[in-house]
Amino acid sequence: MKVFKFGGASVKDADAVRNVARVLNGFKNQKLIVVISAMGKTTNALERLTDAFFYKKESAETVLDEIKSYHISICRELFTDPSHPVYTDLENTFVELYWAIEDEPTHSYNHEYDQIVSMGEIISTKIVSAYLKEAGFNNRWVDIRGIIQTDNTYREGKVDLELTEKLVKKDLLPQLESADLLITQGFLGGTSENFTTTLGREGSDYTAAILAYCSDAQDVTIWKDVPGVLNADPKYFKNTRKIDELTYHDAIELTYYGATVIHPKTIKPLQNKNIPLYVKSFLHPEDAGTMIKDSDKRLNIPSYIFKINQLLLSIQPKDFSFIAEDNLSAIFNTFSKHGVKIHVMQLSAISFSVCVDHDTRKTDSLIRELQQHYKVLYNSGLELMTIRYYDDETIGKLTQDKTVLLEQRSRFTVQMVMRSQETGL
Ligand code: ASP
Ligand code: MG
Repeated sequence: MKVFKFGGASVKDADAVRNVARVLNGFKNQKLIVVISAMGKTTNALERLTDAFFYKKESAETVLDEIKSYHISICRELFTDPSHPVYTDLENTFVELYWAIEDEPTHSYNHEYDQIVSMGEIISTKIVSAYLKEAGFNNRWVDIRGIIQTDNTYREGKVDLELTEKLVKKDLLPQLESADLLITQGFLGGTSENFTTTLGREGSDYTAAILAYCSDAQDVTIWKDVPGVLNADPKYFKNTRKIDELTYHDAIELTYYGATVIHPKTIKPLQNKNIPLYVKSFLHPEDAGTMIKDSDKRLNIPSYIFKINQLLLSIQPKDFSFIAEDNLSAIFNTFSKHGVKIHVMQLSAISFSVCVDHDTRKTDSLIRELQQHYKVLYNSGLELMTIRYYDDETIGKLTQDKTVLLEQRSRFTVQMVMRSQETGL
């Protein structure tokens, strides 16, 4: 049995959904668990809907109308018969959403967020499952919220792997006896009180890994709009190269430093059970893509990870005391409380420098709290370049026209926080 994952781009319109069927055609007579994300940019639209509902800055009903008509227009292309049952099913699902946003919010923002935003995956899987049925695939729609169990950390549900594994074996796998394909949602989980949780943005890859782990799958394939894992993001770099084979270790390092091709949480469950992960193009499903597995073959080309909109903080105790363990532990706690992830850090006697994403929703309150005890200096509008398996020549090329504010080298990885000279102040 294999696990497949199709992301938002692979189901963004009617043609894309037809293409999913084309990819699956190459795996006839195989048992598959197929994990699907919300269509196109639906999750962003549902985030907007949640904000409209919670903060009342715009009409929630109007935002929901747009989301509904996007999905209905995809269905009109896929199902020409207006009496197809998918329409009634969707109508009922949307009616519930309209009801939900008519009431006043009763729970916390994050709780309400998960109940609303999760509908993107519920709807996309209903459409894809119905379409595949039409196309002759013996498939069954599964509500993953009854299988993947989490705590109630809304928007970042922590998966109870032991309980989930039991439920996968008891309630999920037996369904493959009467169906070839199980079509289910990425990104979602359920709590013991039957509320919906989400696993963090872009979490569908992680869902695929959890299901593979719990069902001892043969392998996992993430179908993408790129030919595989590249050594750099084509958005920022010319002449990118596809990596044919990657170790779990290199893959987890690259995602940790910010390579967005796979969600960072995906590797651990797969490594733990030695399940290979393929990253392949849904446009060229016959191509080999990238294989991630256990091996001692290190990458033989440098990989680049580039992040923009970085903030460099320099944190100094007001009383000139050393940055020692007690100060550090208080500082780390403050970062964790505000949900700010540290990309690079460097320590000197009385100063601690940290590079983070400049997300003002989080960093403004973080800085305010740090300022109670520390002097905080900051530099914004920076870039962070990470090179795994670096060499001096590439560093030289990439730092041309840049001012490097902080640099850190280990044996295999160099990280540089830089400012572009032409845009710098
Ligand atoms: N639909 C969710 C998101 O856009 C999950 C995913 O795509 O992996 O974040
Ligand atoms: Mg997505």
